[in-house]
Parts: sequence; C-alpha cells; structure tokens
Amino acid sequence: MAEAQAFWALHLHGTLEQLQEGTYVLPEIQQQYEKLRQEIVRKTGQPLVFSLSNKCHTLSPHIIGAISRVTLAIGIHLPALMSFYAKTLARDPDGDRKLEVLIVLNILHEMEHGAYGYLSSPRKTREELIENEAAAWAVSCGEEIRVFHEQGYPLPAATARVYEVWQSCGAENNRCWKSFISSYYAEVAERRE
Ligand SMILES: [Zn+2]
Repeated sequence: MAEAQAFWALHLHGTLEQLQEGTYVLPEIQQQYEKLRQEIVRKTGQPLVFSLSNKCHTLSPHIIGAISRVTLAIGIHLPALMSFYAKTLARDPDGDRKLEVLIVLNILHEMEHGAYGYLSSPRKTREELIENEAAAWAVSCGEEIRVFHEQGYPLPAATARVYEVWQSCGAENNRCWKSFISSYYAEVAERRE
C-alpha cells in the first residue's frame, strides 16, 4: 500500500481533498461535485465515503473508479490508475495534468451513477449496463469533460474520444451513443455475462 499511497501523494496533489474542502480550481467542477455529494447524502443519510484500494477491481484490472450500489461509497482502484500512468502518461509532458482530469472524472462519474440512480442490479444484463453507462457518461461529458476541454486541459486519449463521439452523436442517449458505449464496455460487459 505504501507504493500506492506514495503515488497518490506525489501525482494527485490533494485533488480529492480539494474537492472535499470546496477549493478545487475549476468552479464548475466544484459545483457539480457539491451537487452530487448533496444528492448522495440525501439518498443515504450518511456522509459520502471514498476508499482508496490497493487491489484491482474484480471485473477488470483496468477499472479505476467504482461505486457500491448499497452504500454509494466510491472506490478508487489505485493499481489501475498506476498502471495506466506507467504505460500511457509517465513520458507525456502533459501526463500529470491528464492524470488530474482522469481522477476527477472517475470520482464525479461514479458520483453521477449514485446521485442519479444509474445503478445496475446485482444480476445485471448487458442491456442494463449499457443503459446506465450511456446515461452516466452523457452527464460526465456535459458536466466534466466539456469543462476541462473548454478550460484548455489536455485530455487522456480515451477521454477525448468519448467526448468527440458524444458531440458527434448529437442528442443524448440515442442509438449512436449507446452503440459507442456498448463497444467501449465490451471487455467489462463480457466478463459480467
Ligand atoms: Zn460508469
């Protein structure tokens, strides 16, 4: 865990703490965090909980963020974040800024699942997964990726691709968007079947 904690401290510069304290540098992102946090607290009657895990997600080693459908606690799987950084961002001059986008996006995307009820049942079908992810990613594109993009932040390649497709598909949650989300989640979805 020491290595994961050191990575978190070195590269993320208190990003989660800033969101929790209300001091994150982009006001629109901070407002969205607060709106989602209040909705989750209203639903659970408990403070919002984050847990940093040094274990991989059981469905895929690539999954960074997750949410408990029971407690709405948000989990961040540090090994996924660390291996993505090592493989993709470590030699990129914009690597640390892309990592910041990635962590904020993972946190708020999972909170969007919880706040808006885009949560799949325990024995989820592929259709249910795609419905929930299409809905949650449409919100994430409009509320977070758009803001980062407009503020001139460099986006990780996969994030830029999601945003580009969301814009080109037009109206939210249409067939074009769902078909993209379906291919985006192919690996994870297959493991759930
Ligand atoms: Zn999701």
